[in-house]
Amino acid sequence: MPPVDTWLYPTPQGLYCAPGDFFIDPPRPVPRAVITHAHSDHARPGNHTVAASSATLALMRARHGPCPAETPLAWGEPLHHRDVTITLHPAGHVLGSAQIVLDHQGTRAVISGDYKRAPDPTCDPFTPIQCDLFITEATFALPIFRHPPAAAEIARLLASVALFPGRTHVIGAYSLGKTQRLIALLRQSGWNEPIYLHGALLPMCAIYQQHGIELGDLRPATVAEKRDLIGRIVLAPPSAIADRWARRLEDPVVCMASGWMRVRQRAKQGGVELPLVISDHADWDELNQTIDDTGAREVWVTHGTEDALIHEISKRGIKGRALRLIGYGEEEAA
Ligand SMILES: [Zn+2]
Repeated sequence: MPPVDTWLYPTPQGLYCAPGDFFIDPPRPVPRAVITHAHSDHARPGNHTVAASSATLALMRARHGPCPAETPLAWGEPLHHRDVTITLHPAGHVLGSAQIVLDHQGTRAVISGDYKRAPDPTCDPFTPIQCDLFITEATFALPIFRHPPAAAEIARLLASVALFPGRTHVIGAYSLGKTQRLIALLRQSGWNEPIYLHGALLPMCAIYQQHGIELGDLRPATVAEKRDLIGRIVLAPPSAIADRWARRLEDPVVCMASGWMRVRQRAKQGGVELPLVISDHADWDELNQTIDDTGAREVWVTHGTEDALIHEISKRGIKGRALRLIGYGEEEAA
C-alpha cells in the first residue's frame, strides 16, 4: 500500500491528489476541484469542474455564479475517479459542509475542512470516519479555547434584551453559517419575534430556507424605522456593527458572536458590549477527541495554531505535521 503522502500532498496550488489529478479547496482556479464548504477561503471562484455537496454548490452559485461543470455528491455517495474513490460526509460546520474522504489502493485520507462537534440545527452533524491520515483545522487549537454551550450564550443575550427594553441589540455575525445558526438557536430558545437583518445577510438565509432550514419571520432592518427596532434583535455583518449603520439604531447594545470573543481583549478592541462565545469551529477538546475518534496514526494540521496540537497528539503516539497551505486567512466564520 503506498503511503498517503506519496499520492496526496501540498503544492503551491493547494492540496493535490495526484492519482485523481484534482485539488482540495484550491486557493487559485484549477481544472478540477473538490470543495469542502462554501466559505470564501475554501471555495474560490473560477474552477472548471467542481465536486461538492449540492448545498455547497448552491451557496457557491449564489456567491460567484455557476461554474462550468458541477458534480453534486450526496452524503456517502461514491465518486470513482481514475484510481481514487471520493465520498463526502457531514462536517457540522455550516450548511453543506463536508469532510472529503479519499480512498486509494487500500489507504484512506480524510480532509475535514472546517468542522465542529457541537449541535447545530442548521446543518448535518459531524460523523467521525476511520482513516490512516486525518487533516484537521486548528483555528482554536489552544487549551484556553473551550467553547461554552451555545444555548447558554443565547440565554445571556435574551436576558440582556429583557433587561434593556428601550435599546436595540445588534449582533455582528458572518453572513454564511453564523447568522443562520444564531437565528435557529434564538428560535430554539423560544424567541418568536421578527428578527431584523442587514441586507447583506438576506441572500444566504434564503438559500438555507430553500434547503428546509426553518428561520421564522425575517425582515430587512434597512427599511424599518429606528423606533420600530427598539427592543428588537438585529443581525449585521461584523464590518457594519462598528460603523454608522449601527449607530443609527436606537441606543444599540453592540454584540458579537464568535469563538474569538473568548479573548476579552478582542471584544474590547471591537467596541463589543456583549460578547457571545459562539463558534462554528471545534474547540481544543473537540479537536483532540475527533483526532482520537478517527483512529488516524498521522494527522496534518492546518489553518491556525498547529504547534500546540501537534505537541499534544505526539504524547498519544500520533504523528503530526503542520500543513502550511497558502491562501487561507483568518476565516469568515470563526
Ligand atoms: Zn469555514
